[in-house]
Amino acid sequence: MAGNGTVKVKIDKVEKIYSGRNGDMVALNGVSLDIMENEFVCVVGPSGCGKSTLLNIIAGLLEPTSGAVYVDGKEVHGPGPERGVVFQQYALFPWLTVLKNVQFGLKLKGMGEAESREIAMKYLKMVDLEQFADSYPKELSGGMKQRCAIAQAFSIDPPILLMDEPFGALDAVTRARLQDLIRELWAQEEKKKTVFFVTHDVDEALLLANRILVLGQSPSHIIYDVTIPEEQHPTRDTLFENMEMMKLRMTLINQINKDVTTHI
Ligand code: ADP
Ligand code: MG
Repeated sequence: MAGNGTVKVKIDKVEKIYSGRNGDMVALNGVSLDIMENEFVCVVGPSGCGKSTLLNIIAGLLEPTSGAVYVDGKEVHGPGPERGVVFQQYALFPWLTVLKNVQFGLKLKGMGEAESREIAMKYLKMVDLEQFADSYPKELSGGMKQRCAIAQAFSIDPPILLMDEPFGALDAVTRARLQDLIRELWAQEEKKKTVFFVTHDVDEALLLANRILVLGQSPSHIIYDVTIPEEQHPTRDTLFENMEMMKLRMTLINQINKDVTTHI
């Protein structure tokens, strides 16, 4: 087990049914899962399998139809400061500068101007955006906006980070940089965050996670769950030379494909 034995997020028989004009759609069919403190969990699965639905339920942005999510043993009913969220298209406030965008969340936590400024600058530096502190979001590229969103999420220092395909809209080079950055930010902390990271990219999951889940399609549930010991964790340079990782990569791809073809 990659975690330290403490259950941080408990997902208990979560079912989500969307009711629409064409009847009911089961998006999650009783998902149960314990996420340990300091686990970096990547959830992979084909488009439409319910990844975002599950993340939004953990974030408290959606209520499950039945079942429940518990954080530190307390049932989730809405967003909370202990859960930071990064989406694929992060909406920065267009009327605030990069610095003020990052400071915003810190001030919401009750921090004053000087301290929030100092912390915001520290994180902007980490994501290599300090020269753009006084720029507005419209002056930034997509990758820079996403770096700003990451600075914001990390600066607030929530024990739990929920990320929904945060690099999905980026070019390959920027994506690789940000993957390394996220992994570094996570790995360098003594008290590691609990990360729930959604992606449809198996290689991204292999590079980042110490636990990978495959979410199957209709009716959606977890079809594969594997923990990767920290000492086996690959780097970008060694990933494709690592036989264990390549075997796991094939297994994951097969699981996803098998699931897709049985539901066509
Ligand atoms: P993923 O993130 O894995 O692509 P989603 O969680 O977004 O999957 O969606 C899971 C399923 O639920 C899909 O079939 C999608 O069409 C459906 N769905 C998602 N949101 C809604 C909604 N608000 N109303 C109705 N159906 C929805
Ligand atoms: Mg999604």
